[in-house]
Amino acid sequence: MKGTVTKSTGSQYLVRLTDGRQLNCRTRGNLRLKDFEATNPLAVGDHVNVEVLDTDDYSWITAIEPRKNYIIRKSIKLSRQVQVLAANIDQAFVIATPVLPKTSLGFIDRFLATAEAYTIPAGIIFNKCDIYDDEVWDWINELKDLYVGIGYKVIVTSSFDPEKMKALKEELINKVTLFSGHSGVGKSSLINNLIPGLDLKTATLSSQHLKGTHTTTFAEMHVLQEDSFIIDTPGIREFGIIDFNESEVSHYFPEIFSVSKDCQFNNCMHLNETNCAVKQALSEGKIAASRFDSYLSILENRDVFR
Ligand code: GDP
Ligand code: ZN
Repeated sequence: MKGTVTKSTGSQYLVRLTDGRQLNCRTRGNLRLKDFEATNPLAVGDHVNVEVLDTDDYSWITAIEPRKNYIIRKSIKLSRQVQVLAANIDQAFVIATPVLPKTSLGFIDRFLATAEAYTIPAGIIFNKCDIYDDEVWDWINELKDLYVGIGYKVIVTSSFDPEKMKALKEELINKVTLFSGHSGVGKSSLINNLIPGLDLKTATLSSQHLKGTHTTTFAEMHVLQEDSFIIDTPGIREFGIIDFNESEVSHYFPEIFSVSKDCQFNNCMHLNETNCAVKQALSEGKIAASRFDSYLSILENRDVFR
């Protein structure tokens, strides 16, 4: 039978069959996708074939279908090995807040650039809008214009506002959506609100046991409703564009990339080259300074995970 991996611990998997049953499974045979080196052969979101055993024992995953896309991270910091976090994603949202705790634009932009690198449609959810003051609202509206202008979805919401939660849910229907975000932004609260009864741990409880460098955390897929799924990435703070080529970084900033076609040199890095259309657009305010700074920070590998 066919199914989708909804949870992975590295050696055991929970698979949701097309008939809705959830089964504990293990893998049999060599499942590695061709030309793909990762520490885990299977990830949440993978479409698999299952040999269902009619006992309480584990069933067998016998095959994995080619992935539409996937997102990876380094399996351990500083290691070159990669771990596939999730596969077959229709859209990815970074959950952010302008307050308590403030999410940096660098972090948001790195997330969006990573999604571009993996050709996953992406967007931003600004949460906790119930506590924005006028000044914060002005800023959020500016950011909304900026990111919508580039082509990203921007949703402003609050876990405590039923109307806004309803609007958020509409965006998730018939899709596999990945949620990411720093701890404290309200990701668990949002997911609990979207899926009553799920009861993810919120606030202090959730962050505690995820600390420590050797803790490996895995993504988990939750069923919102038939054909609508949320992939949660608890404790996962960084996605990696692994071993990217410096000259490709600007390709992951759509508005910079489109302007760069007018640079004099086709290998222009938009640093100090003459007749750089990107620098020109930046000085005219057509490219946001914050976005250009994020571009530079990825180029320079500055730490933007704050
Ligand atoms: P997570 O670490 O991203 O999963 O965040 P949690 O869901 O655990 O929430 C962190 C804290 O933010 C908790 O104290 C929540 O009650 C609070 N919180 C979550 N959503 C909202 C919101 O929309 N508005 C406000 N004011 N607080 C929120
Ligand atoms: Zn240039």
